[in-house]
Amino acid sequence: MQRAIELALQGLRENSGGPFGAVIVRDDRIVAEGWNQVTSTNDPTAHAEIVAIRNACSALNRLNLPDCDIYTNCEPCPMCLGAIYWARLRTIYYSSTRADAARIGFNDDLIYKEVALPPELRKIPTIRIVEPRSDFRLQRVAKLSGKEALLIQSLLVRADEGHRANGNVMRIFGRNRSTMQSAKVAADASKNGRFDRRLPPGGNQHS
Ligand SMILES: [Zn+2]
Repeated sequence: MQRAIELALQGLRENSGGPFGAVIVRDDRIVAEGWNQVTSTNDPTAHAEIVAIRNACSALNRLNLPDCDIYTNCEPCPMCLGAIYWARLRTIYYSSTRADAARIGFNDDLIYKEVALPPELRKIPTIRIVEPRSDFRLQRVAKLSGKEALLIQSLLVRADEGHRANGNVMRIFGRNRSTMQSAKVAADASKNGRFDRRLPPGGNQHS
């Protein structure tokens, strides 16, 4: 944690970005470091944790870090928290809190609140566009024609729950067993990861 704080101060002194630093540790050794470089690189994603994760994955030449812990001088923002989960880090150690960060102008409360909302209620208009011709996922999963993918997609949009959509798809495709199976595979695949989630940018993002 001391090293994370050092990096935060160093970054601040060098006008790199906000006062945020992070280190990634494996077997009691630092494998990577990062500090906020948002303003110096014009990169709103260059938070300390993100930079540290990129450096750690590069150093270890892999995309998961389940045997590593991250130390960050401030509680991670939603973007970094997401990245930490994607990287499968083992433990998060942090020092200052979100409230501390907010007091010095780095408030990520908005994003935390937005993440919890359904897409249609978020401040940044988030509009789902159903374009079956570009929905490679559905067609790739079940080798569906464009017409079948369109029908399934529209059912999924209307249904509140995946299993309801699944039932509708089964009913409609029930006459053709092989098509029905394809449709079910597609519906299941969609149910398990049907939306691409987008995080809205906040004002001052920290760490
Ligand atoms: Zn962050």
